[in-house]
Parts: sequence; structure tokens; C-alpha cells
Amino acid sequence: MPFCRECGNEVHADWVTCPHCPAEKGEIGSGKMVQQLEHQVDEKQNERMTELIFWVKVGIVSITFSLLLIAMMVRRIPFAL
Ligand SMILES: [Zn+2]
Repeated sequence: MPFCRECGNEVHADWVTCPHCPAEKGEIGSGKMVQQLEHQVDEKQNERMTELIFWVKVGIVSITFSLLLIAMMVRRIPFAL
């Protein structure tokens, strides 16, 4: 188990930053490896954000569509009668 450079707490080998230290402090491993890991994490976060934005858009479109459909149905009922 490696130890944090900043606080000396025990950390996992696959952790990029130390949970005991504020962000960007408590780097684990060599600087190059940390940068690569951070890059990988950024890419994964970007992928997740893109996916999230896509599903939010799908959600907005489907909600708008159902509201329009409901509005049309509500409007049509008095006319149908
Ligand atoms: Zn630390």
C-alpha cells in the first residue's frame, strides 16, 4: 500500500489523489503517471458528460412531446364532444 506524499495517510495504488487531502494535493505515484491517470479520468468524465447531456436532451424532447400530446388530447376532447 502506498502512502500519501502530503499527509502520510495510507492510500490505494489506483487512487489518483488522496481522499484525506484537498484537491490536487496528495499526489500518489510519479507525476507522469498521475497526469496520465488524470487524463484518463478526464476522458471518462467527458464521455459520461456527453452521455448525460444526450439523455437529458432525449428526456427534454420526450417530455415536450408528451406535454404537446397531452395538450392536443385535452384540446380535442371538447371539440370531439
Ligand atoms: Zn493525503
